[in-house]
Amino acid sequence: MIRCAPRVSDDCYRDVIQHPVKTYLARSGNGLLDLIYPPMCLVCGDRTETGTLCERCVASFLPIPEPCCRVCGRPREGENCGTCARFAEETGKSFAFDGACASAVYAGALRHAVHLLKYREKERLGPPLGAFLTNRLVVDGLLPDPKSVEVLVAVPMHPSRERWRGYNQARLLAEPVAELLAVPLLPNGTVVRTRKTTQQVGLTDRARRSNVTPDAFAVPDPSAVSGKRILLVDDVFTTGATASACADVLKRAGASYVQVASLAAGG
Ligand SMILES: [Zn+2]
Ligand SMILES: [Zn+2]
Repeated sequence: MIRCAPRVSDDCYRDVIQHPVKTYLARSGNGLLDLIYPPMCLVCGDRTETGTLCERCVASFLPIPEPCCRVCGRPREGENCGTCARFAEETGKSFAFDGACASAVYAGALRHAVHLLKYREKERLGPPLGAFLTNRLVVDGLLPDPKSVEVLVAVPMHPSRERWRGYNQARLLAEPVAELLAVPLLPNGTVVRTRKTTQQVGLTDRARRSNVTPDAFAVPDPSAVSGKRILLVDDVFTTGATASACADVLKRAGASYVQVASLAAGG
């Protein structure tokens, strides 16, 4: 397993991070089973050695169009950011996180991949998608200062929903990011979801913003995050309401900085 100590040198970053998608893809072969059931890309169905995600699908993921808002990471029109403005208008405050970025547009093959990961029990997509996110954060420079990240937190699901699904997709994405950045991923339960909000899927943007209130999350033990610079990982950034509510409790628990990194952004 490739691993290097925190606060790594630039050389080490290059070696570890340069081809994380390929590394993860190469790890997922099944030996003899592959001869009986030829491995296919879960997204497009084409044959691929990895049995998870083919390189053609990964190559089709589109970066967020520039110029992006430096607060929320969504495309902005001129000097104004519609996403930030709508959030402020409806909630009376600004986003609680210090910055946010997303690795690609929530569309096409990536949208399909996220649906498979979330709703079709394709947990195997977590590692290659998380590695893709890391690649965008570090190699493509989406993350302003990767070496300043001290801990990772995955946006939690409500415990009853996680039990029903069997896993938290944000955590599956955060695990390879933590491994590749050599930064600890704080355990499940560091941030808990205290209110079971309606599923965001199918809600209008306005309904999404009012669906998630800051009291939807809690940090039972503030000492776990106090004074820390946190990278908060989520699957999809839509209105920013969920990420902001989660960042809000982290900040109130004493976190010094919260940067959001989402796999995808869009509506
Ligand atoms: Zn494919
Ligand atoms: Zn913005």
